[in-house]
Parts: sequence; C-alpha cells; structure tokens
Amino acid sequence: MNIHEYQAKEVLARYGVAVPAGKVAFSPEEAEQAARDLGGDIFVVKAQIHAGGRGKGGGVKLAKSVGEVRELAEKMIGMNLVTHQTGPEGKEVHCVLVAEGVDIARELYLGIVLDRSVSKLVVMASTEGGVEIEKVAEETPEKIHKEYIEPAVGLSAYNARRIAFKLGLEGAQIKHATKFIMALYKAFVNSDASLAEINPLVVTGSGEVLALDAKIGFDDNALYRHPDIAAMRDIHEEDPLEVKASEHHLNYIKLDGNVGCMVNGAGLAMGTMDIIKLAGGQPANFLDVGGGANVETVRNGFEIILSDPNVKAVLVNIFGGIVRCDRVAKGIIEAAKSIDIKVPLVVRLAGTNAEEAAVLLNESGMNFDVATSLQEAAQKVVAKIK
Ligand code: GDP
Ligand code: MN
Repeated sequence: MNIHEYQAKEVLARYGVAVPAGKVAFSPEEAEQAARDLGGDIFVVKAQIHAGGRGKGGGVKLAKSVGEVRELAEKMIGMNLVTHQTGPEGKEVHCVLVAEGVDIARELYLGIVLDRSVSKLVVMASTEGGVEIEKVAEETPEKIHKEYIEPAVGLSAYNARRIAFKLGLEGAQIKHATKFIMALYKAFVNSDASLAEINPLVVTGSGEVLALDAKIGFDDNALYRHPDIAAMRDIHEEDPLEVKASEHHLNYIKLDGNVGCMVNGAGLAMGTMDIIKLAGGQPANFLDVGGGANVETVRNGFEIILSDPNVKAVLVNIFGGIVRCDRVAKGIIEAAKSIDIKVPLVVRLAGTNAEEAAVLLNESGMNFDVATSLQEAAQKVVAKIK
C-alpha cells in the first residue's frame, strides 16, 4: 500500500526523521489557514497524488504570501495532474500539502528497499537528487552508492556515516545526516515498509538535512500490525476494479491489453499471460481466482473482467487439482447465466474430471469455445479478437 507525501512525512516525523513543517489542506480556505498557522514569508504548495514527477507537471509551486497559497490551492485542488508516472490520463488532486519554503543548498537522493537477491535491505544514496533517479541508475550507475545492511545487526552509525561521506557532506552536516539515516531506517523496519524514497533529501543553507519529499510503500501482509497506517489508505488513488477485486479477495491487476484472463493460481496466471502474448495477443489483466474456483469466485471474476471496456474476449484457464473441473464448469455455466457476457469466451479446464467438464460446457447450450491445450486456448482467444 502506498500513502501520500503528507502522510509519509507524518509517519517519518514520529521516528525523528527531519521534515519541513507543513499541513494538509482539502480546500483553498484550509490552505490559507495552514499558511497562516505555519507563518513565515515563503511557502510551497504541493499537489498530493500517489505519483512522482509532480514538480515538472506543475504540482509543486512556491508562494510568497498567504493569499498566493490560497490561489495556488484553488488551481490545484480538483485539477487533473499529468506526470510521467501517472500515464496520459493523469490523476485528480484532492488535497495539497502547504509547507514552509526551504532554503535549498543541495538536493540529494536517499532510498531504502529490500534487495531480494541478497535478502538484505539496501540503503541507496546519490548526490544526484531531485531528478529522476531511474535515469541516474541507467546512465550513471556509479553515482548511486549502495550500503547493504546485515539484518541481524541492523543499520549501525558507521553505515550511516559512510553514506554521509559518499554524499560529500562535511562537519555538522554529517551529524545531521547520520541521525536522519538512522531514523529513516528505524521508521522503515518498525512500520514494515517495503520502500522508502526521499527525493530530494536536502541540505539547507544552514547545514540541516531534511526530507523535502517522501514516498513510502508498505507490505500489505503486515498492515494488520499497523491499523494507524492502514487507515491512511486512499482508495481514490487505486484502480476501482482492483479495489472491488480486493473486496472479493481476488488478486486482480489491470493491464493495457484486450484479452481478459481468469485463472486459478498465480503461477498459472503468469503462464497464461505469457502464452497469450506468444500467440500475438495482449492480456487485459492478471486475475488469480484462488485455488477453490467456485460459482461465487468465478462470477465475481467475470464481473470484474467484463467491467473493463477494453476486454474483447476472455480466456478461462483453470487447473483442477484440489477443485474438480466438472464443478468449475458448473460454476462457469451458472455464472454465465446470471451475467450477460457479450464477448467470446474460450475455456480450458485441465486436470481432474476435465472430460466431464468439457461435456458439460459443450452441452450447456451456451456459447463457450472449449480448448484442451494451453496453446490451442491462447490461439483461439487471440483469433476471436482478430
Ligand atoms: P516530485 O516532483 O513529485 O518528486 O515532488 P518534490 O516534492 O520532489 O518536489 C519537486 C521539486 O520542487 C524539488 O526537487 C525541489 O526542487 C522543489 N521544491 C519542493 N519543495 C520546495 C521548497 O520547499 N523550497 C524550494 N525552494 N523548492 C522546493
Ligand atoms: Mn520528489
């Protein structure tokens, strides 16, 4: 689960990570009041969406008065913000963060992520902050310093100091950065984060080290341990079909293609997507209905797949191991009776009682196209579209 910048800064501040003072505002009036409460004579108004690149897209603006903060908030709240991370359709802005303006001397990058290949957290730091770190990683990977952390020991002060030296910090800045990095690590581990990114991490004119921006992603499987963080979920930011799927405990991820997929098991779902591509098609989604594909899960699955207007044909690929294929076939027939399926449907059921299942589907009087092999199934469904 991802959260907004203002929420991430709130979580980080609890662990002693230095962040600029700021307040969230859901209306221009609230933004004006937030600026008044903050005081000072320079502010920054930042659109809150779950995507980066807001600066370039016009979602981060400086204001020199409380009135200007209000005007900027008026423009930003309700606007559709397009950045390189939102895709061309953009994202609607529901609130802004009003923060004190910071006197920036340097913009650095700091991130923590789990490196699965070595089973360790890695702290990444770069002097090339502010810009797209993906570009730095691609073009000048030597400019990203990686500090691997021994899980049994945790991050030590020497790790943090080494990072500070690599960032070219000096004197009191090193002390501030060490404290910052150790607090960020503690926040990461204690909140079961899966990603934390501070871009930019800034050194101010007076040598302080602050998180000017903050993105945190959390491990969904650990959210039950953090009800306060779970409450920060903003479903506006999520795909409505994915939200509906999660309510039905289905693993659904929307993709850009036009072949809907209903599969049991994540591995088979991945394999199905591959074979659709191999046959020249593009999957419209990943959908794992789980091991016990029944009428209920199959119906919910169809409803979600068919709500996507891009879907022009559906491939059902279910392996009957624990669940018997004839029962799945009955589920498909019943589900198909209760919802109006307007697109061609190719069904492949393999495993226990597959023959009985094929007979049931063929004799149902409904328009199913039954396939036996994976390849046949993929070719049939792709042919339906062409
Ligand atoms: P992102 O573009 O979505 O990653 O948004 P950021 O929060 O990283 O802001 C983008 C850029 O705006 C930063 O790299 C800074 O250069 C600038 N910026 C953000 N906040 C401030 C601020 O308080 N003062 C100044 N002077 N610039 C800021
Ligand atoms: Mn940023």
